[in-house]
Amino acid sequence: MSPAPSEFKPSEFEMIQQYFSNIIFPNSAVVLGVGDDAAIIRVPDKSDLVFSIDTQHAGVHFPFNDDVKVDLEQVSKIAQRALRCAMSDLAAMGAEPLCFTLALSLSSSDAEWLDYFSQGLKQAATEFQCSLLGGDTTKINQGGLSITLQVQGLCPSQQALTRSQAQPGDLVFVSGNLGGAAAYIASLGGGNDSKLSSHAEELFAADFFYPMSRIELGQALRQRASSAIDISDGLLADLQHVCDASGVSAELQIDEIPCRPELQDVFGRQQALQLALNGGDDYELCFTVPEEKRKEIVKLAEDMECPVTEIGCITNKKQESTITCYQQDNSVFSLNDITMGYQHF
Ligand code: ADP
Ligand code: MG
Repeated sequence: MSPAPSEFKPSEFEMIQQYFSNIIFPNSAVVLGVGDDAAIIRVPDKSDLVFSIDTQHAGVHFPFNDDVKVDLEQVSKIAQRALRCAMSDLAAMGAEPLCFTLALSLSSSDAEWLDYFSQGLKQAATEFQCSLLGGDTTKINQGGLSITLQVQGLCPSQQALTRSQAQPGDLVFVSGNLGGAAAYIASLGGGNDSKLSSHAEELFAADFFYPMSRIELGQALRQRASSAIDISDGLLADLQHVCDASGVSAELQIDEIPCRPELQDVFGRQQALQLALNGGDDYELCFTVPEEKRKEIVKLAEDMECPVTEIGCITNKKQESTITCYQQDNSVFSLNDITMGYQHF
């Protein structure tokens, strides 16, 4: 008789075999997946391989407490989120997802936990048709869960979107709406949670755990956008990276920033803007396009039912400040109270 799932403590190889070797989708570029010393992919002619790596630690990137009874639904959501966040880098480059590898550090091996984790991972992987081709599974004695995902995608040669080609006169767009994920994190800290209705809390939690990863939009922006970045650290911080890489400045219209609508009701305007401009964890795309492409961009976004908002424009590099925000009456909106995005060190 096989042991009850929650008592079953799979060995490293049982773990890999049972939970991580069946997240695979047909793709002619995949030659060899999980089980050998390394995986093999064959990059098609006239394609570039685009790859990125992303680490998420318990307590830093997602709320997690090993001491309390583990919420298994939460485990599944954490796995989903980790892959969706990693995918967002491929979206920002305009790449089509191909495969990923997983380095997982765990303090124990529990069948039920692994089941929820791998199901969450598989759900996100299925959405992106992105195969798990390998990884590394290690036990840690101290500290919580750590998930590292390396994602790989393909892009027609020389068409990947970068941060460095924004030009003065280009329009600045952002997809979706901003601030919800940061509101979820803020609500965990106490403070505002009494103000949150369960409806708002659910919305913000969904923004946090199910970021959109704008893969389709990213691919549509190839040869149309002059630059793109995904918003992981906050709109201002990430747009600043584009400006630095491109040697330009940007002007934004503060009233055009697409805050998650519920934010203002819950937090008031100033904090709603703070969350939207600076909150991070949105994983929406911020991109620049030449002005003559405005209509084309709006049309293609409509066709793919992906909301995009024009929020400002790129200017020549200014010495005083890289990003200036204007209010409707053309006065400058002070960013002094708005701290810049999340930094680890
Ligand atoms: P090696 O010792 O040669 O590095 P491992 O014993 O670590 O190989 O892994 C055996 C196989 O299982 C490899 O193909 C590896 O990519 C895969 N693997 C290990 N951990 C994971 C995981 N968490 N998810 C997917 N594949 C994994
Ligand atoms: Mg080996």
